Amino acid sequence: MAQYSRPKGTQDILPEDQPYWEYLYAVVAEIARSYGFERIDVPIFEMTELFARGLGEATDAVEKEMYAFKDKGDRDIALRPEFTAGVIRAYIENGMQVYPKPVKLYSTGPAFRYEEPQAGRYRQFHQFNAEILGVQSPLADLEVMLLAWDIYDRLGFKGLAFQLNSTGCPECRPGYITALQDHYHAHIDEVCEDCQRRIVQNPLRVLDCKQQRCQPVIATAPKITAMLCEDCESHFRELRGYLDALGKPYTLNFRLVRGLDYYTKTVFEVWAEGIGAQAAVCGGGRYDGLAKLLGGPPTPAVGFAVGMERIVMVMKTQGVEIPKLPQPPVYLVHLGDVARTHAVRLLTDIREAGIGAQIAMSGSLRAQLRHAHRRGARVTLIVGEDELARGEVTLRDMESGEQVMVPADNVVAALAQQMSESSGAKTAAN
Ligand code: AMP
Repeated sequence: MAQYSRPKGTQDILPEDQPYWEYLYAVVAEIARSYGFERIDVPIFEMTELFARGLGEATDAVEKEMYAFKDKGDRDIALRPEFTAGVIRAYIENGMQVYPKPVKLYSTGPAFRYEEPQAGRYRQFHQFNAEILGVQSPLADLEVMLLAWDIYDRLGFKGLAFQLNSTGCPECRPGYITALQDHYHAHIDEVCEDCQRRIVQNPLRVLDCKQQRCQPVIATAPKITAMLCEDCESHFRELRGYLDALGKPYTLNFRLVRGLDYYTKTVFEVWAEGIGAQAAVCGGGRYDGLAKLLGGPPTPAVGFAVGMERIVMVMKTQGVEIPKLPQPPVYLVHLGDVARTHAVRLLTDIREAGIGAQIAMSGSLRAQLRHAHRRGARVTLIVGEDELARGEVTLRDMESGEQVMVPADNVVAALAQQMSESSGAKTAAN
């Protein structure tokens, strides 16, 4: 028989890793809600055209990395490579432009890119995504940046700093792109083949090329911040003013451009100690032109996405403490056919009383007890035939090892009592 393996670039998230994920989902949702963001869920697949238009035909995400296919109805469908295009589509399609502004939205879920897998780079990965729609003020840029910052901070990441740039707007960017192209054409033999192509098709991307031979040409390239129009310049100045006032460290990084075409004005990343640029965990910025490009009314927007796999990686390497997932406190072990049936009835009674419980499904008494211990049960109920004949079951406190006999028809009440005592004891100890 052939053995199946998971498709290249995908991962199984096993139970032992789930505490990281549950904790992460809980933290991002809690902080986002505390900032006034509301959840939106959009489809995992959309019409291919949405991403092609929204992200740009010549971007890597669309040109090389999209999971695009024809469905049985001959429609061109693609798995989402990111959230923003779908969220903007939903905003337009559901008439959300009439909502009071700003509209603050967040999402979590899988995204798909056909990339070469490596550490922290997968073909199916997960993002936390947040956007503010409908306001032009740099306060919105600040708000999403603070949200990203707080998420890192809450997770215990150290040495946080923003990387910050402006990519201009349709007013000033063409002038900058011409200057960049002139510079590159004067050095065209010195740069890599990709950049020779990029400078025509996707010029800003030459700035984040990692090839050694391109570095001197990048270092002497013109800088967009010197060529911003008045509107972009004042937007950038106001945002920096807020960051200065809050004492939030940031580095102006003229090489920071995002891989997608839709960005205007602000682009940012958050870097943390020990992560570095290659492992950027989060990236975002402003995309004022996107809604119009997707057929909607002009809608200023700013947001960011965090790669959740990369966060989990960093949580592990930095030893971030995470709470254990709660286990059902009660475990039933049983000996013999009659006892088993009785234990099944007890199991459902206990669950009906709102107490988490599970039952041993195989093994000797010893093996069952060992399993109860491994599963972190606080109380084990031992249902044996002799005891049952006397109308009793054994209740064992797994922490102290103490055992008491309890009348079989009083088990649920005894458990409820035990649960409230031990949770009371825990509160007192805290
Ligand atoms: P982007 O939409 O490219 O700005 O990506 C936002 C964030 O998503 C990045 O900072 C990464 O943390 C994460 N990310 C992007 N692509 C991948 C991938 N292939 N695998 C895992 N995480 C990714």
